[in-house]
Amino acid sequence: MPRPNIDVFGQCIMCGTSLIEERVIDGKVVTVFKANRTETTYLLSDGSQMKVAMCKKCKESLDGTESAYVMKAVVRGWQHELETYSDWKQEQKDKYMGVYGKKKIVVRSDNKQKDVLTKHFNEYKVKEAKLKKDK
Ligand SMILES: [Zn+2]
Repeated sequence: MPRPNIDVFGQCIMCGTSLIEERVIDGKVVTVFKANRTETTYLLSDGSQMKVAMCKKCKESLDGTESAYVMKAVVRGWQHELETYSDWKQEQKDKYMGVYGKKKIVVRSDNKQKDVLTKHFNEYKVKEAKLKKDK
């Protein structure tokens, strides 16, 4: 399946497959997560953790090379969501994306111990500082 290139609620970020369904419970239609839905967590360059919705099949086949794609798709999702904020001025939107659009994935974090993550994060910061210096 082709990659959707954007993070949309209720969809797998990797393959676009639907992760939600409507069910009738007690006579009301409710949106529930399907059994194939799971999440993958990434450590970001500002030290925060980001959860991304995926189907179980895609999560099983992750090899670490997906992180640049995932970040791009998430940022596109944020941008798309911002466009629906009609009460926000363009200036506010630019400022928001100036902060959030700069976040980067350091490493996938839900399959790593805390000390390993700290090591990755410190290495990332050293690399980042060196890049800034070389500019
Ligand atoms: Zn998938």
